[in-house]
Amino acid sequence: MSWALIPLTEEQREIQRTAREFGKAEITPHVDAWDRAEAYDVGIVGKLAELGFLGMLIPEEYDGLGLDTATYLVALEEISAADASVAVLMSVHNSLPTQMILRYGSDAQKERFLKPMARGELLGAFALSEPEAGSDAASLRTQAVRDGDHWVLNGTKAWVTSGSHAGVILAMARTDTPGDRKGARGIGTFIVTPDLPGFNVGKKEAKLGLRASPTVQLHFENLRVPAENLLGDPHMGFIYAMQSLDNGRLGIAAQAVGIARSALEHATRYAGERRQFARPIKEFQAIQFKLADMATRVTASRALLYAAAAAKDRGEPITQFSSMSKLLASETAVWVTTQAVQIFGGYGYVKEYPVERLFRDAKVTELYEGTSEIQRIVIARELYAQS
Ligand SMILES: Cc1cc2nc3c(=O)[nH]c(=O)nc-3n(C[C@H](O)[C@H](O)[C@H](O)COP(=O)(O)OP(=O)(O)OC[C@H]3O[C@@H](n4cnc5c(N)ncnc54)[C@H](O)[C@@H]3O)c2cc1C
Repeated sequence: MSWALIPLTEEQREIQRTAREFGKAEITPHVDAWDRAEAYDVGIVGKLAELGFLGMLIPEEYDGLGLDTATYLVALEEISAADASVAVLMSVHNSLPTQMILRYGSDAQKERFLKPMARGELLGAFALSEPEAGSDAASLRTQAVRDGDHWVLNGTKAWVTSGSHAGVILAMARTDTPGDRKGARGIGTFIVTPDLPGFNVGKKEAKLGLRASPTVQLHFENLRVPAENLLGDPHMGFIYAMQSLDNGRLGIAAQAVGIARSALEHATRYAGERRQFARPIKEFQAIQFKLADMATRVTASRALLYAAAAAKDRGEPITQFSSMSKLLASETAVWVTTQAVQIFGGYGYVKEYPVERLFRDAKVTELYEGTSEIQRIVIARELYAQS
């Protein structure tokens, strides 16, 4: 699909080519098997690392590639077009835990965690949600209590992408006390490693889509976290998480564009091959109109995404644009994959063709890192903040 609206630099084209070829060679041949097995081969993490794709936004002084947001999103769209499950590990790692340590971490934390994360030796995860705290994440209950030179954490984190094999998990826990609750300003972010006593991986979710990506609960039972693993201010962890989600939502928008683009490409090809009533179905105007609408929405989603990425790289506030990008791209992904299934007819409903998986994978983009309802709340709130 044409990128003509977004003028890529030579470096961006090169990274796009690399990511596309990597997807074709290392992901596409396995994607159905991973989907059925509900697990990708974890060796894919090392392969992404070799390309530098787990340190794209981290400055070179911390062993990353030091690229801008747009370049990172170009690569992420390609990986998403190959497999949304692999893309989500890349998106979470690059957009959330690494960015949080880069922005709020101490020099020692950058040395110990950020550098190996940039090299892809430690995979990052982000543990904000809990079974009873999803959209209302500030109501989370996991409690952290200071005990000498440690913090002791108790509670359950839910839905943790890559939580079963991550080497570093940024986990939010209450640092206020039961008798003096401070809401969103009573939460800290802790750098948790799976070797700490009291860290347990709980149930793995059986999902509609994104099945190859492990989504797990984490149980903290008197988890002893060294005090030096607290990120920044003990009461600002939730604010750090929200600020980081501005980046994360651009990543999810790129994932959604990748899924939608892939569905459009498959549907366009199939409509040229499938014959009914003695002609290819692409000759029916009903099919042409669907493809035209799909292409228009994918192009609009990508254009908004790159405008938001450019604003971020200029250092401008992007909360509203990041929510708009995620909202438009995720609803586009769900709509476009639905149309793709329709164009494939009955063959769109079976696992023999990729649009069945794309249709299932698309839905999650409307749910995680803030549902579409939450994105609309953010966008509307910013309208009033600006007026
Ligand atoms: C595959 C997957 C991976 C995930 N990965 C991670 C991860 O790595 N880390 C992490 O921390 N979390 C992760 N999540 C959790 C995800 O962010 C939450 O599922 C999401 O925030 C929604 O929370 P909830 O599921 O509890 O839904 P709820 O908050 O219970 O929402 C239920 C419904 O009510 C609506 N709703 C809620 N509040 C309002 C309101 N004020 N106004 C209007 N409507 C409202 C919602 O939009 C939704 O439609 C993941 C989720 C999934 C499915």
